[in-house]
Parts: sequence; C-alpha cells; structure tokens
Amino acid sequence: MANSGEQLNPGPIVVLSGPSGSGKTTVVERLVAESSVPLAKSVSATTRPARTGEIHGEAYYFLKDAEFRQKLDQDDFLEHAEVFASGYLYGTLRSELHRAWTESAWAFLEIDVQGAMKVMQQYPQAVTIFLKTPSTEEFERRLRARGTETEDVIQKRLATSRRELEYSGRYRHVVVNDELDRAVREICEILKFEETQFHAG
Ligand code: 5GP
Repeated sequence: MANSGEQLNPGPIVVLSGPSGSGKTTVVERLVAESSVPLAKSVSATTRPARTGEIHGEAYYFLKDAEFRQKLDQDDFLEHAEVFASGYLYGTLRSELHRAWTESAWAFLEIDVQGAMKVMQQYPQAVTIFLKTPSTEEFERRLRARGTETEDVIQKRLATSRRELEYSGRYRHVVVNDELDRAVREICEILKFEETQFHAG
C-alpha cells in the first residue's frame, strides 16, 4: 500500500503513555524541544470534538466517526483504541510514521496503554516509556488541583489510571514524574542510550 511508510523504510519509534495528570503534555513538549534524539510528534486522529484552541492537523486530526471508520477499513491506522472513559476513538495513522522517518526523526507516539500494546506487538523494538506520578495520592491531588473536572470525571480518571498502571510493567522503561526537569532529563538519557542500541542493531 502506498501510504504504509513503515513497510518501505522502518525507522525508530518511541511510545510514551501515562495517565492524564501525570504531566504528560508538558513532558512531551519539553522532549520535542530538548531531546538530542530528533523526535517528530505523531499527530493522532480522533473522533473527539476539538477543545478551544486546538487546531486540526496540530493537536489532532479531528475526524467524523464515518471518516475514522473509513480510514480503519483502508488499513490506514497502525493502531487505534476507544480510550477508557472517553468513549471516543483515537488512532495513529501509518502516514505519521512515514512523515517522521522521511525527516530522519524518531516517530514519537503519545498514546494510551491499549494502543501501546498494539504497537509493541507489531514493533517489539519500539522504545516504550510509561510516565507515572509518584503515588496515587499525588495523582489525585494534581487532578483536583487543576480544578477543571467534576467529581464524576475525577472518579473515572482515577479508575482509568489504576487500570493503566497495571500495564506499566509491560513498558521497557518506567519514569516517575516526581519533578519535571528530572523526569525530562531521565527520558533524554533513555533516548540517547536507545539511539546507540538502534544504530548498533
Ligand atoms: P485527550 O482527549 O485528553 O487529548 O487524550 C485522551 C487520551 O488519548 C490520552 O491518554 C492519550 O494518550 C490518548 N491518545 C491520544 N492519541 C492517541 C492515539 O493515537 N492512539 C491511542 N491509542 N491513544 C491516544
């Protein structure tokens, strides 16, 4: 298939997962800006409506349900999942891998645990990183401190994070986001190490 970039030229993939509230978004931004290993953030497709300020093609490709399903039928997705508690579909387009690799960068996927498991099956060599908060209590504290969620949503997020934590042992690396700068430094070191492995093997 013309858009199955990874079949033409397989390159490196890094997958980062972690519950919302683990500080993932900031870590992702910092890594893209600071990592010595070039990272091209994959833009996911989703059926979730755009939030204020989110731009199509930057935050996500916002698709109607039928459009998403058509792409599924065409085998355009490397992985997709209905993300816990959201009810919306999210997926990584194969064309995003191709885009990264043609830029000689690592394809950087920030996806949920279900998607990460699917990537691992297809690319056992993918560098997988699970970002977690120091403790469940700290996670709950951060979630409440944001002040943006209702109690119902908070309870759902906590349940999701407990479910996601069960998968953390399947990742190659687990990083505790106890302090932002330290966590970013640790991931940069992991990527540097993995880069030497990639070129060696
Ligand atoms: P949000 O709707 O808050 O932007 O993201 C909700 C969740 O969807 C996050 O945990 C994020 O990791 C996950 N997600 C985003 N893109 C993808 C994707 O392409 N595939 C999968 N499986 N999960 C995704």
